[in-house]
Amino acid sequence: MSKFANGKINKLDAYVPGEQPKDKKYIKLNTNESPYPPSPLAVKYACDELESVRLYPDPDCTNLINAIAKTVNVSPKNVIVSNGSDEVLNFAFIAYADENNPAIFPDITYGFYKVFAGVNGVPFEEIALKDDFSIDINEYLDKNGVIFIANPNAPTGLEISLEDIELLLKSNPDRVVVIDEAYVDFGGKSAISLIDKYDNLLVTQTFSKSRSMAGARLGFGVASEKIIEDLNKVKYSTNPYNVNRVTAVMGIGALEDNKYFENNISSIIESREYTQNELKKLGFTCTNSKTNFVFAKSDKISGEELYLKLKENGILVRHFKKDRISNYVRVSIGSFEEMQAFIGAVRKILGE
Ligand code: PMP
Repeated sequence: MSKFANGKINKLDAYVPGEQPKDKKYIKLNTNESPYPPSPLAVKYACDELESVRLYPDPDCTNLINAIAKTVNVSPKNVIVSNGSDEVLNFAFIAYADENNPAIFPDITYGFYKVFAGVNGVPFEEIALKDDFSIDINEYLDKNGVIFIANPNAPTGLEISLEDIELLLKSNPDRVVVIDEAYVDFGGKSAISLIDKYDNLLVTQTFSKSRSMAGARLGFGVASEKIIEDLNKVKYSTNPYNVNRVTAVMGIGALEDNKYFENNISSIIESREYTQNELKKLGFTCTNSKTNFVFAKSDKISGEELYLKLKENGILVRHFKKDRISNYVRVSIGSFEEMQAFIGAVRKILGE
């Protein structure tokens, strides 16, 4: 820290992204990226757009917003796009959480929520997941704060039902409920269908996982028109050009190429089921993941040791040094061949 840093920055615990070591080539199963390239149509649109980058992008992102609205079956007025879904999540913290409206989220969830609370100087409350890592929705009812729930949750991979989400929305009509659907395309159920019924719902999604665009940074939020107006106010007060030209057209290409998207999702789900079955045969316990990762533990080896030994074997997975989950590893679903290599390495490490 420099001597100039203010008190807020001094106290901040910044987010720690998954490691990207440069010492050798790894099979990278630690940041939930897609093993497949973006749609060829998205790549073509990107190439066609490159010459236009001397011009600022359309700050309203009209074409992209229209394409998203059509895909998720809402009006364009219900959509905002962002630089990754992290950005729209941060907009929600800026717009809705304050001294009197703490951010509320599970104790085991996406680590960035706590960081957003910190950087925005707002209080937060963590509610413990049950022993089986499920969310007890009753603990969130009538809460005085802005609720953030990842559905499916990360790193547990578990989903909650739309009925539970409706209970939450009904019990909290004067507070915003944010449902973070970064992983919903891998088998979850989206709450977007509820936005007409509940004006306090904000759903966020991303192109980073299911649409293979983590490096292009594109996310979006879907909500009532009024919420979108609030979030746009934040966007136009921070970075009106938050989505660059190349990313915007790639997003449109990715949405137009639905077949490619669906094929990739099926392959990832197939590889996920293969990985979970093989891990179970080796004595692992796995959560019922609805995402593009598995969350698994073994009585034969600690989470940290498995993570370290896999790394020695050229495979990166994610391990969290956090109570209750320190015995687990989170393994992103790569290509089928990568998952076979992962299972082979686990077998070797366990001496089976
Ligand atoms: N929500 C959850 C639960 C995530 O795991 C991630 C990815 N790390 C994000 C949101 C943000 O992803 P992105 O900014 O790439 O859209």
